[in-house]
Amino acid sequence: MPKQKTIINAEKALKKTELCLTAKMKIQPDKSAKAALLRTMRTYRNACNHISNVAFKHQMTKAFSLHRYLYGTVREKYGMGAQMTQSTFRTVSAACRAQKTKNNWTRAVKFHYPHAVWLHQRDYSVTDGSVKLRTLNGWVNVPLVIQGHEEYFDDIWKWGAARIKMYGGVWFLEVAITRNVSTLPVSSTPTVVGVDVGLNFLLTTYDSEGNTQFFHGRAVKHRRQRYFNLRRTLSRKGTKSAQRRLGAIGRRERRWMQDVNHRISKTLVCSYPPGTVFVLEDLKGLNAKSRKSGRYYALTAWAYADLREKIEYKAMQHGSRTITVPPEYTSQTCPKCGYQSQDNRNRKKHEFKCRQCGYTTNDDRAAAMNLCKLGEETIRAVRAGHDS
Ligand SMILES: [Zn+2]
Repeated sequence: MPKQKTIINAEKALKKTELCLTAKMKIQPDKSAKAALLRTMRTYRNACNHISNVAFKHQMTKAFSLHRYLYGTVREKYGMGAQMTQSTFRTVSAACRAQKTKNNWTRAVKFHYPHAVWLHQRDYSVTDGSVKLRTLNGWVNVPLVIQGHEEYFDDIWKWGAARIKMYGGVWFLEVAITRNVSTLPVSSTPTVVGVDVGLNFLLTTYDSEGNTQFFHGRAVKHRRQRYFNLRRTLSRKGTKSAQRRLGAIGRRERRWMQDVNHRISKTLVCSYPPGTVFVLEDLKGLNAKSRKSGRYYALTAWAYADLREKIEYKAMQHGSRTITVPPEYTSQTCPKCGYQSQDNRNRKKHEFKCRQCGYTTNDDRAAAMNLCKLGEETIRAVRAGHDS
């Protein structure tokens, strides 16, 4: 029987009708717009640090309380508009809470980078290839590169808070956007697909019909290894130009990995009919797995997070859903008899062999089988909760 928390999370995921994502669009501010934006973002950051110090001193995390206590001071000292001043309190509150839940709030949270939050239709608006943003120097109009993002300008998408990011001299507008998707039919028994992320296969899947798919990771692994070696050589050099190249290589690797993830997730999701439930390990699992193995994983934590996000996103667009389950022992438990032992798995040979019943298969496949089973049990538990 899956844990209550897993069941609650699964229920939420199955019921989800809102698809959220971050749209990243290039912007081309001129010199004076850049100065205005940077000044605003630096001021916002400074205001956040001011609030953060007080929050820590008085151990306050509620945006409402901080706001009541400090609004006047912050508004006067930093000179931002009402909306933006209010938003600094939410930013600080969220950051402090995150540290507090991790039991990590041992000193005031520090905001290092210039950063600000613009609210749609209040602090920014988008028209005909440009975005108008409120700054401390007044409104600025900045050209926006729409190409590749046309779909987000459809009325079905709702635009939310925006941020501005800079990567290697290129400026981006990052907007949280949402849209509604159709609900998952609850009455039918869905096809369930266990999705394991591994070292030799990027993905291994096992579905409730008993089919397995392997998505090969060898080419990805080699290319990542090459990037890894290159990065190591450059970081040993330590020169300024090596630093610059390091950054460029990191970005190139990221783009390439995102493209790989895009293609894999699309292939996976589209190979099943709408209404399918994909079962993935939650993130904590992968971190533990790569630590334990001490080996170079085909996917790093961020690449896995990206892949998972893309599977989730494409599944929802396709009328399917994803749920996550804790990965405990999925790679050492026998999918046939349930016997669990570290000895069941031979990492070197990539083989799973049950010490009790003798069932033998590929080790990633065994993990995918267990994920499928866990998913089916979780969905049954969600249903049972409704029937009772
Ligand atoms: Zn067994």
